[in-house]
Amino acid sequence: MTPRSADSPGSARKRLGAALGLFALAGAALAPVSVAFAQDDAAPIPLLSDTEMNEILHADADPIYTAAGLNPKSVKIFIVGDPTREGMNSWVEGGQNMFVTAGLIIQTKNPNQLSGVFAHETGHMAGGHLARQDQGEKQTLATYLLTLGLGIAAAAAGAPDAAGGLLYSAGYFAALTGAGFTRTQESSADQAAVTYLEKAGESSRGLVEFFDNFRYEEVFADAQRYRFFMDHPLTSDRIDALQVRSEQQPHYNVVDSPEALERHQILIAKLRAYLNLPQQTLNDYPDSDVSFPAKYARAIAYSRDQETDKAITLTDALIAERPTDPYLSQLKGQILFGAGRAKDAEAPLRQAVLLKPDAPELLFLLGQTLLAEDNPAKLDEAINDLHHGLSLESDNPEGWLFLSQAYDKKGDGGMARLAAAEKSFALGQNDDARRFGMQARQILPKGSPEWRRATDIVLVSKPSNDDLKLLAQEGSTNAPQKR
Ligand SMILES: [Zn+2]
Repeated sequence: MTPRSADSPGSARKRLGAALGLFALAGAALAPVSVAFAQDDAAPIPLLSDTEMNEILHADADPIYTAAGLNPKSVKIFIVGDPTREGMNSWVEGGQNMFVTAGLIIQTKNPNQLSGVFAHETGHMAGGHLARQDQGEKQTLATYLLTLGLGIAAAAAGAPDAAGGLLYSAGYFAALTGAGFTRTQESSADQAAVTYLEKAGESSRGLVEFFDNFRYEEVFADAQRYRFFMDHPLTSDRIDALQVRSEQQPHYNVVDSPEALERHQILIAKLRAYLNLPQQTLNDYPDSDVSFPAKYARAIAYSRDQETDKAITLTDALIAERPTDPYLSQLKGQILFGAGRAKDAEAPLRQAVLLKPDAPELLFLLGQTLLAEDNPAKLDEAINDLHHGLSLESDNPEGWLFLSQAYDKKGDGGMARLAAAEKSFALGQNDDARRFGMQARQILPKGSPEWRRATDIVLVSKPSNDDLKLLAQEGSTNAPQKR
């Protein structure tokens, strides 16, 4: 239930977006996370964004960050949309951006194991270790493609992946090749992990267990190892040393609370349901499993399989069980929206926003839905919701895109172009940002805050000399510096 500050996960997202050059949206709200990428670029790594999953990860990781002396709000966690065991990995980039693949999360048996991995990564982060020698932030971030919210589906135009929405590829693995950590660094990260976990009042047993599950990886040649263990070479000596020290800790016997365990199961259920084929999910979570996470997974699988009625029936039952869970109402809204029933999606999405008023993702979903209803009476409300979401997450490109569409429908060309400029700016697409910014300036009232904002966007988007001349003639700028 942490309201996001304006700059969380924003600045990293901006850099990610900036590193990219491609961005597109498709309609279906529950389409699998799916993206395409420019042919010339290295295959991007898909990042998932989902308020509930992010909240669960932070619930597990924040006590570790705090124990390590970090401000949890300044550490961003990104989920990489690769659910495979082979690709499982976790790493830190650009200071405090922590990446974890869906596959690694799925391989953890309980939150304590996941916290253990986070603690180990935090140990590398605090120690300033670099797994890759050329780990310049720009180079590596350039390989990412920000996948939009699982809800507000991001499928690049014309390329929704029918096979199940997966986009990791050979190129993605290539992007991650590196030398890996040294044995000394590994040992130091293990030691730090135990210290953090103990300080957080948690057991380091999970970390030992996680490594122990993959003990056999030691005998494999490097290239045969799972990604995570290429970067973090595992040895029996290391596991044994870690175990000895862990067992000495006062909190060694602490176990996960039932609530934490269930959150973890929900996290994994959602990842599998969104990233695996629906049939796979229905096999993994058969009808005989009547647990909350299993029903959640089946609801998502049915909706992805376009069995809307089944999905809604299941979701309604879940909502009856937990009426105050905002993410269930969100799911219902997304299922209906994805089935082309924007009007029906409105009420559940309103309910989701009511239950969790400060989640940008929910506000964008509601705004998007109101917009899709094509009812002029609802335009102002859509605009309000989108502005509210953007006030919380000012560099969310999809929020700006919807806002631009809303103003366009309203016939407000100046604001539509300003929002389009903001969207391009958030993505680091200088040419478009400058172009829309210049167009907005021509329409917006001169000297208004919006006109000034458009001017600012032009100025920070590598304006041409002609642009600058034009701005100077209008007296709107004092000799701006080209960046
Ligand atoms: Zn390591």
